Amino acid sequence: MLSKKLSNITPSYTIGISTKVNELKSQGIDIINLSIGEPDFFTPDAAKECAVNAIHANKSKYDDAAGLKALRSAIKEKLKKENNIDYDIEEIVVSSGAKHAITNTLIALLDDGDEVIIPKPYWVSYSEMVKLTGGSPVFIKTKKENDFKLTASELEESISSKSKLLFITNPSNPTGAVYSKEELSDIVDVCLKNNIYIISDEIYEKICYADEYTSIASLSKEAKEITVTINGLSKSAAMTGWRIGYSACTRKIAKAIGAIQGHLVSHPSTIAQWSAYGALTLCRDEMAKMVSIYKSRRDRATMLLSKINKLSFINPQGAFYLFIDISKFKDSFNFSDSFSIAFCDKLLEEYKVAVVPGIAFGMDDFIRISYACDISDVEEGIKRLKDFVESI
Ligand code: PMP
Ligand code: GLU
Repeated sequence: MLSKKLSNITPSYTIGISTKVNELKSQGIDIINLSIGEPDFFTPDAAKECAVNAIHANKSKYDDAAGLKALRSAIKEKLKKENNIDYDIEEIVVSSGAKHAITNTLIALLDDGDEVIIPKPYWVSYSEMVKLTGGSPVFIKTKKENDFKLTASELEESISSKSKLLFITNPSNPTGAVYSKEELSDIVDVCLKNNIYIISDEIYEKICYADEYTSIASLSKEAKEITVTINGLSKSAAMTGWRIGYSACTRKIAKAIGAIQGHLVSHPSTIAQWSAYGALTLCRDEMAKMVSIYKSRRDRATMLLSKINKLSFINPQGAFYLFIDISKFKDSFNFSDSFSIAFCDKLLEEYKVAVVPGIAFGMDDFIRISYACDISDVEEGIKRLKDFVESI
């Protein structure tokens, strides 16, 4: 009955775990939730007020498929000022979250069987989005000693005549690694030589603790031509439920994305778009405050984790995740399919800590924890993780 496309699609692990945690919590069970990557902060007041004002001003009619002009102008300004990329508003499309912006892009660019290169570890939804839009995901192994960042030579080795697109997530989910300008330039050179487009997922770009952040499209005119920049408000402004993200790219691709969106959803909710407008134009200070709190949690979490024997992790330079190597415990587990799922199930069942199994990101010897939660939860969660691994 169901489409063949769905035969090898798995539901989102991150969303699934979070639903399970909410269920357990509603039964009164004390769970420390370090699973889903969702800011614990609330949407800044000024952004909420913009939405309320929009409701009262009846700004609730159909509008441009590509998004409100005022919001696209604010995004244009942001990309110019903060990311050093000069996009016209016709090159920007506002969508219902970065997820939707990525899916629109894949529909616009992929023909059946086109290969999409995805460096491992990868964010949980990329492979499924590619399969759903007719593409074929090709995973590249990266090296732990390079913080699992893709190198130009690793990319070169995985290119075939069917390669069409490359995903780069910067900062990375799940590792928090941040690419340097030089690393990105080398990757862009390979893409330019081989006619490969780049989806540059920059959803965590504001949450960056490194001294320098580079957007791929800012590297050169040529880099900008082959790049679709993806961003949104979910993480930077703690606006996950409002569902506002965006893509910025060449006029030709943006026009295609606008047409696709016009048929599928018309445009994201106008009220949510006004709220995003408020966030971008009025809430810089609140956003910066959130980042400094994430940074102090990162420092505390890495200090506590470094004291646990047999666990190692990538030192994150951005986002709010820690990708932890649990391979030293593999021999102590009985599992049929996935070691990381068995590890996480036991941690949840016996120590009441929810984390995401590495298999969700294509790497079964790892787990991911999120520190987008109160510092007391970060501390208690890591303490229970320590007790758990010491009991193994
Ligand atoms: N990209 C990455 C790397 C993510 O972690 C997420 C998580 N939500 C998204 C895209 C999607 O974000 P949004 O809420 O804007 O759809
Ligand atoms: N992106 C976040 C995560 O990786 C939120 C959940 C999701 O959209 O997958 O946990």
